[in-house]
Amino acid sequence: MSIEGNIIHIRQEIYKACEKSKRNPDEVTLIAVTKTVDSSKVNEAIAQGIEDIGENKVQEIINKCEKVSPVSFHMIGHLQTNKVKYIIDKVKLIHSLDRISLAKEIDKRAKQHNKIMDVLIQINVAKEDTKFGMYQEDVYDFLEKIKCFENIKVKGLMTIAPYEEDPEEVRKYFKELKKIFEEIKTKAFSHVEMKYLSMGMTNDFQIAIEEGANIIRVGTGIFGERNYNQ
Ligand SMILES: *Cc1c(COP(=O)(O)O)cnc(C)c1O
Repeated sequence: MSIEGNIIHIRQEIYKACEKSKRNPDEVTLIAVTKTVDSSKVNEAIAQGIEDIGENKVQEIINKCEKVSPVSFHMIGHLQTNKVKYIIDKVKLIHSLDRISLAKEIDKRAKQHNKIMDVLIQINVAKEDTKFGMYQEDVYDFLEKIKCFENIKVKGLMTIAPYEEDPEEVRKYFKELKKIFEEIKTKAFSHVEMKYLSMGMTNDFQIAIEEGANIIRVGTGIFGERNYNQ
């Protein structure tokens, strides 16, 4: 299938999942995840109306920024503290805030650029050893500790569910994250605005939408299988 055909298909699936859960499809942002994908293909997706691009490597953000049509970039992968300075002025949202040292660095660099950096806190809901993100039970303590960082605004939560052949198996993790999201919303933290719930990838985005995701991150479903050796 073509990139165009894939995007049409995904939009139909978003629509169906929204119908099923009585939600408005306009509430769901589709991020095209472009890791390992070359710029001409990224531009094909942008020509189909994609406005948000997700990358998990700093270097790819730097390269693509110059080569693709203007869109918003999202840092969705593990972010090394010493690389924050390269992307602070290039990304709309960092989805992977998971530790104090990173918050401190983002705050420092955002201050230098006179901006407030929007971030999501990454939660490892399934507590997988192989995944980054904090445990949900640590999130309130974390929110308390980052209060002092005036140039960071917490805009929501992000998770990567475990891979399961049957995506129904991960519904419980999406439900759990939505619950925490709603709970934090009820608390009055001045540095927090619970607006975005970033969950769902190629294998499980329909279920994530049914459980309340308003940002989904799809790579393979748009660009096909990734080739990491090119
Ligand atoms: C690669 C990646 C995705 C997209 O995964 P697909 O299964 O290709 O849709 C989404 N989120 C993150 C954090 C990723 O690293």
